[in-house]
Amino acid sequence: MGGKPAHYLRAGSIWAGAISSLPFSLAAAARAARCAAWAAALLLSVASPAPAQAAPETQFSQEAKAVIERNFAGKNISYLLVDASGAVLAERWPSQHPISPGSLVKPFLAVAYGEQHGNQFPTVRCLGTSTRCWLPAGHGPIDIEKAIAQSCNAYFLALAAGLDRERAALTFARYGLTGPAPDAADESLVGLGSAWKETPMALTKAYLALVKEQQSISQGRIVKGMMASAARGTAREVDSALGESTALAKTGTAVCSHLPQASADGFTVVVYPSAQPRLLLLVRVHGVTGAESAKVAAAMLRSLGVGQQAVQP
Ligand SMILES: [Zn+2]
Repeated sequence: MGGKPAHYLRAGSIWAGAISSLPFSLAAAARAARCAAWAAALLLSVASPAPAQAAPETQFSQEAKAVIERNFAGKNISYLLVDASGAVLAERWPSQHPISPGSLVKPFLAVAYGEQHGNQFPTVRCLGTSTRCWLPAGHGPIDIEKAIAQSCNAYFLALAAGLDRERAALTFARYGLTGPAPDAADESLVGLGSAWKETPMALTKAYLALVKEQQSISQGRIVKGMMASAARGTAREVDSALGESTALAKTGTAVCSHLPQASADGFTVVVYPSAQPRLLLLVRVHGVTGAESAKVAAAMLRSLGVGQQAVQP
């Protein structure tokens, strides 16, 4: 598939051409909603307590807000879309209070482990339920890339058991993360339960930093795992919507922490494009698994003209 047509993400005039590359109907819809977008942007700037950086009101940013608000309305979906510098392009997240993002913390546990073990990662045998994995039958022998792709709990519990917590806290802090309490259970380090909390913005910036370090040995393997996640792992809906090897992704399923209470919240981080990231989208979808939320994240990016060309009827 040769198509990564929305090449408005070029260096220089990053967003130039964004609008002409949107599917026509969406571009039209976005134009129609432009006034609403301005109003929404204004409201956001008033309502958001303190986004670390506010992006200039580029045309892409305005259109992105309008298109997402139109196509992904409703309280069940929260999202944060930033550029490669972490500047906010569009967002709808009711509060910037810390949340439990489930398995989205696993890559940072892996970085901490790699730092403490000479960038060497073990192969772990996941036996499923008996090793506290979400996949009852187990993943079998699994390495770091596959463990990220499949979000294997058994694998990351094994890493957590071999971690110097004080040194790990320094690693998390370097990424701008609060990290779990020093005496937190191993389960908390892999994102099980709700003890490890981070703000959506902190998570977003931590992922941007991680992806920028992919030339480093451990980070490179983790990023490969995120590519595999988007291709055939828990976030496989991302590649199936955007195109093969187009994006990096990670999912998380967490205890729902807001009202109305649901059984779970699904989280997905997508970094696009994989080769030279320009966009990062974090979504939370109320009442679904992380894998289900990946479908929403991918559809949201597609609505912005990102990824492979839609098949025209
Ligand atoms: Zn597993």
